[in-house]
Amino acid sequence: MTIDQFDFKGKKVIVRVDFNVPLDENGKITDDTRIRGAVPTLKKVLADGGALIIMSHMGKPKGKVNPKLSLGQITEAVSAAIGVNVKFAPDCGKAADAAAALQPGEALLLENLRFYPEEEGKPVGVEKGTPEFDAAKKEMKERQKEFAKTLASYADAYIMDAFGTAHRRHASTAVIADYFDADHKMLGYLMEKEVTAVDNVLSNIRRPFTAIMGGSKVSTKIGIIENLLGKVDNLILCGGMTYTFAKAQGGNVGNSICEEDKLDVALSVIAKAKENGVNLVLGTDCIAADAFSNDANTQVCPAGNIPEGWEGLDAGPESRKAFADAIKGSKTILWNGPAGVFEFDNFTGGSRAVGEAVAEATEAGAFSLIGGGDSVACVNKFGLADRVSYISTGGGALLEAIEGKALPGIVAIKG
Ligand code: AMP
Repeated sequence: MTIDQFDFKGKKVIVRVDFNVPLDENGKITDDTRIRGAVPTLKKVLADGGALIIMSHMGKPKGKVNPKLSLGQITEAVSAAIGVNVKFAPDCGKAADAAAALQPGEALLLENLRFYPEEEGKPVGVEKGTPEFDAAKKEMKERQKEFAKTLASYADAYIMDAFGTAHRRHASTAVIADYFDADHKMLGYLMEKEVTAVDNVLSNIRRPFTAIMGGSKVSTKIGIIENLLGKVDNLILCGGMTYTFAKAQGGNVGNSICEEDKLDVALSVIAKAKENGVNLVLGTDCIAADAFSNDANTQVCPAGNIPEGWEGLDAGPESRKAFADAIKGSKTILWNGPAGVFEFDNFTGGSRAVGEAVAEATEAGAFSLIGGGDSVACVNKFGLADRVSYISTGGGALLEAIEGKALPGIVAIKG
């Protein structure tokens, strides 16, 4: 079934969205890209005369109620986005009455799904590898099914539109689909758009294909980095990863973020890039700071020659130029992860240079796909959102899709 074929009139529809938006210390949304992303699907159901039950997770409450991660904080923003006064159900597992009372054209937002451990389906309080773990896992899987069944019982149809969590087999992203037949479950518009954007990158790649991977750690991105080494012409590795590479090549990185246990991995990436004829662009210089602070003193120095007590927080001028040069001639671009600690206004230069170069390449005809919460925040912070081809709401999901992995959230609907 597709969202355009289904008749929502008089139906209750439970929609899994990704409202995992960043909040500031006062609970104010700092980037609403993900809410905006879900609007077309939500409005479609309402416009057709359906009623909405909207569900999402926020952050990592690890199966416990945490008021700081309550979706109640975003009810007003969701109401404004979809143009109806959204009601709030403070317990997503006990929302049957609120759902039953919904009239056509009304909407109900459920509390954070991850306040229930059943959502993720991971055993709580049992160490992995212990004899109790397997039994606890089995029991939790059963509880997860029950939880998914409860969520499913609120509605006549299910829409999966949370691309950001489509790579997880959670109660609300995949298991719930088992309780709807093929005619009553479908992907939302955002999912369809995201999947098309990934297809644009992967099928008929226009070359040169440049991937820019930034962020803090090598360890969390190594899978995709290795995979990209078989696909791209240019691979730019920037951000905190720079220093693991610099150290691996014998450099001194001072207090910079550096994964000592990934030095061999860094060397093997360098070797594999050479083998594959990939132009690997690593940061050569940096803006080093004498503290992890926006107001720290700074100096420009080689990424592999940082004085003791200093740490690289942003790409230096030489690196920025090298990144921009590789990006500018590209015809396909994937960007995930910032080139520095862009949250500090004094260390945005590297990420801004990357963003500007991506925008210029796009204007010259490249297809650019930006994904991952932080790179999306960068693009928005620098006002470049309208100058890139597609901004994905997915981080991990996008990277897994690019790797060619089947996403459980899609498989649950399409088989
Ligand atoms: P990730 O979640 O791995 O994509 O990492 C994103 C985070 O990496 C952002 O919060 C950045 O502040 C951080 N980051 C980028 N460059 C550096 C750096 N040189 N040192 C420390 N953190 C960094």
